[in-house]
Amino acid sequence: MKTILLYYKYTDIQYPAQLIKWQKELCTRLALKGRIIVATEGINGTVAGTQQACQEYMHHMNNHPLLSGIDFKQSMCEGEPFPRLRIVEKEEITRMGKSPQEISYKDAGTHLSPSQAHELIETNQELVILDGRNKYESAIGRFKGAITPDIENFRDFPDYIDKNQHLFKDKQVLMYCTGGIRCERASAYLKSKGVAQQVYQITGGIDRYAQAYPDGYFRGKNYVFDGRIAVPINNDILSSCALCSETSDDYHNCVYAGCNKQLIICASCVAQNNATCSQSCREKILNNPAMMRKTPHKTATCIL
Ligand SMILES: [Zn+2]
Ligand SMILES: [Zn+2]
Repeated sequence: MKTILLYYKYTDIQYPAQLIKWQKELCTRLALKGRIIVATEGINGTVAGTQQACQEYMHHMNNHPLLSGIDFKQSMCEGEPFPRLRIVEKEEITRMGKSPQEISYKDAGTHLSPSQAHELIETNQELVILDGRNKYESAIGRFKGAITPDIENFRDFPDYIDKNQHLFKDKQVLMYCTGGIRCERASAYLKSKGVAQQVYQITGGIDRYAQAYPDGYFRGKNYVFDGRIAVPINNDILSSCALCSETSDDYHNCVYAGCNKQLIICASCVAQNNATCSQSCREKILNNPAMMRKTPHKTATCIL
């Protein structure tokens, strides 16, 4: 059993190379594996190791002058979730495709705690709620009444805002994402357009909101970027099977290795189609069983 830590922090890092060197030494000494992104705008990581090693890691991070006060999210995992340790320097700690010089975390929307956000939704009938995630994430779970952009990748978010500015004109806008990291700069981007009256974001995202209000305004499942795929928050099912339209929110990756498409497929369609997404993929694996995907489709990544 391994402990997994997910975290991020936006902070000015003048010398990313130095921080990377320190992280490499620290993680190697603690036998932690995973993926860490360092940029001049901050750090974003997912690391896994023994409970003891993770405790020590958090302790050292907390004592670092630039990295104290991180809200670590811990989960447990069977086996070895990461094959190795990979620490890289990038321009952005989660890629929106806008330079941090142009769109800075320092210009982010006002942070609201889960209880402040809950109260705002309860009392402000005019509030516009904006999902900062991709369509496949919001399909299975979202805040009641939220606007859900039809995008496949966070890099498409700025373009979505550019084309839909009218939705936010003179409005108070509350943004959210899975764990908060995307909204930091996505809210700054929306603010940079100068159309919304006020832009808020939920600190800690759906993760922290749903902990405080499991039966609150967020309905359905929280899509996550690890082997779990989705974490049920409450029993609402918001989506339907891509093959038969029955109510379902179970994502499956087509087992034909040449396809691997992730679709919502209900249990009976999974059984009928041998866990493939279509008749043609089904025929391919029936004709050649060696083409069945052997490895899990995804491992944990850094997106929060
Ligand atoms: Zn179905
Ligand atoms: Zn397929």
